Amino acid sequence: MLLSLAKSVLYRIPPRNFRTLAGLTVLYMHGLVRKHEDERVQRLHLTVDEFRATISALKGWVNFVSIEEALRLHQMGETHKPVAVLTSDDGYVDNHDLLMPVAREMGVPLAVFVSTHHIDTGARFPTYLTRCFAYYARAGSYTLPGLDGPLVIADDDAARNAASSALGAAVYRSDQTGVRNLCAALIEAMGVDRQAELDAKFQSDRPMTWAQVKAMHDAGVEIGAHAHDHAILHRGQPKAEVDHQVLTSKTMIEDRVGRCRYFAFPVGNVAHIGPQALEAVRSAGFDAAFSTISGTLRASRDDYLHPRVMLHRSSRADAFNFPFVGLRHDRAVAAKQAAIKQP
Ligand SMILES: [Zn+2]
Repeated sequence: MLLSLAKSVLYRIPPRNFRTLAGLTVLYMHGLVRKHEDERVQRLHLTVDEFRATISALKGWVNFVSIEEALRLHQMGETHKPVAVLTSDDGYVDNHDLLMPVAREMGVPLAVFVSTHHIDTGARFPTYLTRCFAYYARAGSYTLPGLDGPLVIADDDAARNAASSALGAAVYRSDQTGVRNLCAALIEAMGVDRQAELDAKFQSDRPMTWAQVKAMHDAGVEIGAHAHDHAILHRGQPKAEVDHQVLTSKTMIEDRVGRCRYFAFPVGNVAHIGPQALEAVRSAGFDAAFSTISGTLRASRDDYLHPRVMLHRSSRADAFNFPFVGLRHDRAVAAKQAAIKQP
């Protein structure tokens, strides 16, 4: 009761009053749409209007800098400054078409972490395929690899949301061979033609091409690695797969754009990073790596597991709640980083 009262008061206070409580924060997002075709499938994307409003508000109290500058400040212990970094994960085509020009217009440096197999082939991401299937497959009972039982899809929102969660969970816990098999099965069950129609509808989830990635790099966007197949580098992933995912993504980006200094772990919370993934990234020669553990850089005790804060859509019309994440979560950052290293 007291806590919720305190929170409701906090949220009404303009964020600039919290300038000194914020500190160095790395934000992450995925992409922009002008308008959603279907928010359930395109849930990772913000609208351009939401993004502009959020960044304008943030610019009232933080300076946006590059990753390089933020890491320099971190190294010097200057983590109390109201400074933020904008990063975007996966490498969707709208990062080139919308995010880059809008960020540039707003004077915000940008870093994009791309999954190289998807850039190379144009293949859609596994979690996009699961969302398409959950919300667009015909009602029925489906036997799919990696699921404990048959997946029942009925024509109501609750059943489709449950199917989306079950498929998402299967992607998160399977090894990469399992994810590949599940994706192939989803496309087959959906029908190749139907999937192609959905892909045409959801352009937001199309990966960039190498030409677009290179154009972003040439325009000053930092291009980092996000594994080769967007593989989730959890403890159940074979070591050879982990090494392949980390090294291939770094090498391909170096070959195509010239440099690759940073890595972001796909999905990237405690359950999605194993100790051998951390070791693979550390020894691959990256300058730093980023997780999705929530918090500010001030709380970070590991240069290869830096926390980030998601720039997410807010159903509460409370677009400012993310700056407070540091306050609420910083205390847990070091323990979460330590948990990843437990053998
Ligand atoms: Zn990702």
